[in-house]
Amino acid sequence: MQGNCVKCIKKAVFSPAYGPHRFCKQHFLEFFEKRVRRTIRENRLIEGREKLVVAYSGGKDSAVALYLVNRIFGKSNPVEALLIDEGIPKYRDKALAIAEENCRKWGVPFKRVSFEEEFGFTMVDVMRKTGPKKEIGSTCAYCGVLRRQLMNRHSREMKASKLVTGHNLDDEAQSVLMNVLDADVARFLRIGPKSHSLEGMVPRIKTLYLSPEKEAIAFAKMAGIEYFDQECCPFKWQAKRNEFRQLVEEFEAKFPGTMFSVVGFLREVKTLVGEKEEGKKLSACSKCGEASSQKVCKACKMVEGMKGKIN
Ligand code: SF4
Ligand SMILES: [Zn+2]
Ligand SMILES: [Zn+2]
Repeated sequence: MQGNCVKCIKKAVFSPAYGPHRFCKQHFLEFFEKRVRRTIRENRLIEGREKLVVAYSGGKDSAVALYLVNRIFGKSNPVEALLIDEGIPKYRDKALAIAEENCRKWGVPFKRVSFEEEFGFTMVDVMRKTGPKKEIGSTCAYCGVLRRQLMNRHSREMKASKLVTGHNLDDEAQSVLMNVLDADVARFLRIGPKSHSLEGMVPRIKTLYLSPEKEAIAFAKMAGIEYFDQECCPFKWQAKRNEFRQLVEEFEAKFPGTMFSVVGFLREVKTLVGEKEEGKKLSACSKCGEASSQKVCKACKMVEGMKGKIN
């Protein structure tokens, strides 16, 4: 990389394509952390001495989210991690081994739960049953719904005031475009750095909401954070999101700053229509007791379906 850091005389090691700034290692780390602090402050993501539970997969984003939340709030707020093992061999098991090691290194208490213990099957079973070429995204749909259910149940049991997830700017831009192309206005308006408060749901917050993925990777490397860097889950090729990931990456490469514009557009729209905080009323699922908009929640329907199929 050409040139010096914009803050000091050291050689620059990172320069985002969307802006004029170039940073040395120390000033890049500061720049990244400052933006996370600003995201938290401006969106009031964390208030007072709330207990924070970070959903930690072992990948770079949640590793950076946990590292920074613990660094910024670890002295004033209780910070813990929740590790969910979906049962994806040679992928999540490896990632969670790194996650556990980091938690020990950073002095962060953690709880590890698995699909197998909670539901009686793993994602390999789901993959076998949903079929490799069936409906696009079906395996991932199971994974996402079941993971979210465990995240909510266990973070509530851990008495979390907020559940921190590792979603970054790339994820947000993809979500915005996916919902625009699906014409799903309600879901489009629900995207944002914090989930609406609904009874029975632990509010989820995204501290990396304005942090591009490339920068999260650079931060992890420069801060010496170990993470599981295998690009893809073996089932990932099924996810519709991949198409949007590619689309966003191509646009960002051609027109740097696109991702900030996409997310900025959503923010503008939300300002114009006004934030609707009340959300819909949820009741308890008649099977598992988790909050649901239907009598039996989606996760329980999936579990029942799987049990019928497994035998
Ligand atoms: S890619 Fe799909 S199956 Fe793999 S971890 Fe993500 S949601 Fe689960
Ligand atoms: Zn510098
Ligand atoms: Zn249920």
